Amino acid sequence: MHNRLQTRSRLAKIGVCQEDSCLLCGCYPETREHLFFQCTYSQTCLKDIMEWLQIKVINWEKEGTWRRLARQAKGSVSRSFVWAVLAAAIYYIWMARIDAFWNMKVPHPRSILKKVMIDSKHRILEVLNRKRTCKDRRWIEDILSRINV
Ligand SMILES: [Zn+2]
Repeated sequence: MHNRLQTRSRLAKIGVCQEDSCLLCGCYPETREHLFFQCTYSQTCLKDIMEWLQIKVINWEKEGTWRRLARQAKGSVSRSFVWAVLAAAIYYIWMARIDAFWNMKVPHPRSILKKVMIDSKHRILEVLNRKRTCKDRRWIEDILSRINV
């Protein structure tokens, strides 16, 4: 999926775009690695989200962070939920970048968290409606209780 993203450094390379600095933080060339792993904007969004899920994050800057985050969730229910949350996060970070490109404004990381929470709420309720183990249920209810939007 990532390979299709037209980051500005790629556009600059093929001559479409003059500048290649990241639209979200303005500091570094906007490569895929930067946008989703090293960018302080993305990291702030992810940190908020991981705080909500109560997942501890180590080694932010390394590629594979997202995979490691999902792996920290124990059990298939929580893991698939974390993957869905991460997919939503990637989507909204990318949308923020598009917004920055066309409208020259960057949404506050908190608003990304809110959007991810709203999206996830539907999914979480769907999961709760199915038969689950007590452990899964407690984990899900816990996350649900921390959604404050
Ligand atoms: Zn950046």
